[in-house]
Amino acid sequence: MSKIVVLGGGISGLSAAFYLARSLAAKAASYEITLIDKGDLGGWVQSVDTGKGIFELGPRSLRTAGFVGANAIKLADELGLADFMINVKRDTLTAKHRYIYANNQLNPLPSSLMECFKTMAPLPKSIASIYLKAIFKQANADAESVYDVISSRFGEEVTRWYVDPFVRGVFAADCKQLSFKAAFPGIWQAVKNRKLSMPRKPRLDEKLLHFQEHASCAIIDKVRNEGWSQWNLEGGLAQFISALERGCQQHNVEILKNTEVDRLFVQEDGTISVTCQTVDQEEHCERTITPDHVISTIPAASLGQLVADNDPKSSKQEYLNEISQKLTKMDTVNVGMVNLQYEGPPNYVLPKLGFGHLVPSCVESKVLGIVYDSCVFPEHDSKEDLPSTRITCMMGGSWFNDLFGDPEHVRGHELEQAALESVSEQLGIRDEPMSVITNLHRNCIPTYRVGHTDVVENMEDTLREHSINLHLGGMSYWGVSVNDCIYNSRYIADHISNKILSE
Ligand SMILES: Cc1cc2nc3c(=O)[nH]c(=O)nc-3n(C[C@H](O)[C@H](O)[C@H](O)COP(=O)(O)OP(=O)(O)OC[C@H]3O[C@@H](n4cnc5c(N)ncnc54)[C@H](O)[C@@H]3O)c2cc1C
Repeated sequence: MSKIVVLGGGISGLSAAFYLARSLAAKAASYEITLIDKGDLGGWVQSVDTGKGIFELGPRSLRTAGFVGANAIKLADELGLADFMINVKRDTLTAKHRYIYANNQLNPLPSSLMECFKTMAPLPKSIASIYLKAIFKQANADAESVYDVISSRFGEEVTRWYVDPFVRGVFAADCKQLSFKAAFPGIWQAVKNRKLSMPRKPRLDEKLLHFQEHASCAIIDKVRNEGWSQWNLEGGLAQFISALERGCQQHNVEILKNTEVDRLFVQEDGTISVTCQTVDQEEHCERTITPDHVISTIPAASLGQLVADNDPKSSKQEYLNEISQKLTKMDTVNVGMVNLQYEGPPNYVLPKLGFGHLVPSCVESKVLGIVYDSCVFPEHDSKEDLPSTRITCMMGGSWFNDLFGDPEHVRGHELEQAALESVSEQLGIRDEPMSVITNLHRNCIPTYRVGHTDVVENMEDTLREHSINLHLGGMSYWGVSVNDCIYNSRYIADHISNKILSE
């Protein structure tokens, strides 16, 4: 009997437990999988149905591109969600029209090859001319931050007006701090070395090859033929979480909700002990499990605290202490999310239709960007009520403390006020919203700082070399998108399954 504990029940933990249970069950292996989450399941994936529409409080769309995109679509299909998938097609106005807010106006990004040859404000040159010049240039040899790599190869202007806001939109981070290598591994060498196709890092390459066989199937063919660029589900992404929970239950995964893991300790012989406490019962309930493998999908800093300085001391525990120091140093950002809903259809409420707009850090603004949710997924608007427009303001990130102060003391109405002011200034919307949902997501997105990849590889090597069966999953290490999280969980689950089946 193999025992596995999965820490965390967000998209990473649930998909890891599901993949592993399914794989072991298919081979009639005997297993016991326990998934533990300190809250309800879902992590940052939170969809709210107010009766007047569906509001995503965390992630709001999944990209279809690449193996990681295909893998997530395939998982949704396998969980029986194909009929509930909603999509944005590549050639639609929503997919094509994205804006940069600068010089007090919404400036469209080039959306066709023709437009790449035009000068489009705020960029003082055409994208084509910048690209042509960059062909004969190399990025600085020692550059690793997104800012250093892109500005040394493509110039300061394109970095300031396009790359900086893009990084704010995806990572809510400062492109001067973010490692290009860790955040965009797929194009890292191509951009740095002027090669069109890139030899990926062996570890990533291995992952890609591993899943290549899964890239083509009926649902993927449909997605490609119909030209989807992004997708969601009719009831919001929380449906994905519910389907994964059902899938886990069907494969006899034990799910412990409202149960916090507070200690992870490794003995000299490699045995791992996980201690957890159930927090929602009047009676205090503590449990210790000694699994063969632990998959951690909780944030790096939380794992760092669990494994730090545990007694009794063992030499393996010493290695965990070293790892703990690296984990607790990993950075995250705080993000304020304000979902707003206005009376009237998008073509009446919004000055321009499209996916949304981003704001470069050199422009004074309290928002990082605004997503025009009703343009992206109108299926989430209420079908019974009068037309309305949903939008979401994303705020803070690397700039949170400068703009709003200590996140522990920021009140919801301050974020709401900042969002309303930005919406008024940037979109000209001065009406009272019919609904507002405000959330401050603390430490919600990791910032992969320069050197991140080396640190993670080093931790993984240490665990492997010393036969400590603790596996690092979740958004803290190898990609923050939902697609990356699912893909990495699959990789870990396959690795453990192969190991168990070969024993
Ligand atoms: C505001 C926002 C918008 C985003 N937008 C997008 C998007 O549009 N598209 C996209 O692809 N990605 C997006 N992302 C990224 C993506 O949502 C996340 O990277 C992903 O959901 C992370 O999933 P996870 O399971 O790795 O971690 P989490 O969701 O953080 O789950 C970790 C789980 O661990 C539990 N936990 C923590 N500590 C303990 C403990 N000690 N004991 C037990 N349980 C514990 C938590 O309760 C949580 O449920 C967004 C993220 C945010 C925050």
